[in-house]
Amino acid sequence: MKLDKYRFDGTKKFKISEFDTKAKSLTTDKEMILENSELNLRKLGIMQDRFYAQGTEAILIILQAMDAGGKDGAIKHVMSGVNPQGVQVTNFKVPSSEELAHDYLWRCIKRLPERGKIGIFNRSYYEDVLVGKVHELYKGQNLPERCKSSKIFDERYEQITNFEKYLWQNGIRVLKFFFNISKEEQKKRFMKRIDEKNKNWKLSDSDVKERKFWNDYMKAYETAINKTSTSYAPWYVIPADKKWFARFFLSEILVGTMNDIDPKYPTVTKEKEKLIGQCKEYLVNEDDKIFDKK
Ligand code: AMP
Ligand code: MG
Repeated sequence: MKLDKYRFDGTKKFKISEFDTKAKSLTTDKEMILENSELNLRKLGIMQDRFYAQGTEAILIILQAMDAGGKDGAIKHVMSGVNPQGVQVTNFKVPSSEELAHDYLWRCIKRLPERGKIGIFNRSYYEDVLVGKVHELYKGQNLPERCKSSKIFDERYEQITNFEKYLWQNGIRVLKFFFNISKEEQKKRFMKRIDEKNKNWKLSDSDVKERKFWNDYMKAYETAINKTSTSYAPWYVIPADKKWFARFFLSEILVGTMNDIDPKYPTVTKEKEKLIGQCKEYLVNEDDKIFDKK
């Protein structure tokens, strides 16, 4: 499926008002998309096994959205097809006092995936140019005065871009997803959290109150995406009103990335081949002297 329109790598501008959250033209055949989603999960499982065995690259998936945007469900769905040992999910909440005593990248750096692993950031350092910008949180933080100027967000976009370049240059691929839901869809999902008893725990009054800043958030997303879209760490703006489409989209990009990496099982050296032969002989004959042979 052609999803180029939703990919931002710095070569075109992102205007949020031009992006529909429903992707009507792409979602006419739900059955086909569900089938392709399943197929993608199977492919992902096969390729992840090789990716883990190869252990040279890492993938960092960054998920950002307004509340009820579908990040959690997408993680559950897309990761259902992979070996949990090769995945590390981190949820970034309101920073703790320990986290606030450090620079804003610190807590994220600690959770970067190692080679062979897929790291998922459910929210990330982007919160510091999203909620952090909408509410000017830096003003109440313990930063030196010289750091508290209005330039702080431009500086952060630059720091993030440099940081992501550093990651790319060190073998970590960064993929960034904005689950783009409409304000109406968020309302529907909040109502469901109210009406369905088993979903009550998911509802937070602060999330509901945050709706009054919706336009500020959209502006903050638009700016952040424009300032941090690069070839080495592209943004994908996913039309997310339909959960099954958002999940398909995510799986499609992951499979594409794995194809690009084309992971291979490590090749067996002559020495290893010999050792394998000896192991087999030993197991067949239970003869301790086999490993003494040159
Ligand atoms: P949730 O993901 O719904 O459990 O909520 C986590 C909350 O933490 C959201 O309201 C985020 O905006 C907030 N949050 C995450 N990172 C930060 C941050 N760096 N500064 C302020 N709030 C944050
Ligand atoms: Mg929330």
